[in-house]
Amino acid sequence: MTAKLGIIGFPIRHSISPVFQQAALDHLHIDATYQAWEVAPGDVAEFVQRLRDPETLGINVTVPHKEAVIPYLDEFDDSATAAGAVNTIVNRGGRLSGHNTDGTGFLRALRDAGSFDPRGRQVLLLGAGGAARGVSLSLILEGVGHLTIANRTLSRAEALLKVAGVHGVSAQAIPLEGAALAAAAASADLIVNCTTIGMSHGPGETGALLSREQIPSTALVNDLVYNPLETPLLREASQAGARTLGGIHMLVYQGAASFQMWTGQDAPVEVMLEAATRAMRERA
Ligand code: NAP
Repeated sequence: MTAKLGIIGFPIRHSISPVFQQAALDHLHIDATYQAWEVAPGDVAEFVQRLRDPETLGINVTVPHKEAVIPYLDEFDDSATAAGAVNTIVNRGGRLSGHNTDGTGFLRALRDAGSFDPRGRQVLLLGAGGAARGVSLSLILEGVGHLTIANRTLSRAEALLKVAGVHGVSAQAIPLEGAALAAAAASADLIVNCTTIGMSHGPGETGALLSREQIPSTALVNDLVYNPLETPLLREASQAGARTLGGIHMLVYQGAASFQMWTGQDAPVEVMLEAATRAMRERA
């Protein structure tokens, strides 16, 4: 019996998860297919119910369903509970468990691909949406030294600070512009873009939130945006002499963690990264 895996979202055409997950399955000769399913918000409950079929190992969940699937699952691990969102569902004998691999994907990308340990370091996070929530939580739990969250809507950045307060981590919220942003960038060891700025066909497609003059040459700049592979912010960072890390790494590592849960096997990360990068280049 060929096992079933896949990803749900709405829309889902843009997803490259089917490309790199299928590459991993084929590389390990696992008899399974990974598909993309476009599921409208009103159809989520019925779709999740069908995942209990024996041939389905599980699925990934992306925007806008990461919270919507929660009422239809049987159990959750700590990662899903802490994030309040599910990006991975595992089917074990008809019981569905919810997980969130975004945090571990982000941290593994930082460590393995960026050679960066956030413990005790100064971090500037740009954005306060869904991705920033998961990333800030991971950084706080890892013992980041000081966290600055800069966002266009300041109240959303302030809301994220509450979590830092609970864990006794020093943190501040600032606007996404002006002298405060420049000062936070100047002292940052790590800058992470969690906004949609720089994304193809998105707002500010050709712009970067920081110029090369504002980025320290000693910093690592991680853009979570992976389309395009080289974003305007990463270009500015390279010009500043800083190290850069594209969003494709987090994408692949969060997928690799899901793969391991479904199959019980170590994910071939290099194979996945190569397939994902090739797919992005072909789409450019
Ligand atoms: P989201 O929840 O919609 O948050 C969007 C963020 O961008 C908010 O902070 C928003 O600020 C800001 N923003 C949007 N338009 C802006 C503008 N014109 N000027 C300034 N700020 C603006 O989105 P998300 O789910 O967090 O995703 C954010 C990005 O991360 C996306 O590009 C996504 O593809 C990427 N991502 C990548 C990975 C990966 O694995 N690499 C994983 C997750 C997400 P306001 O609060 O002021 O609206």
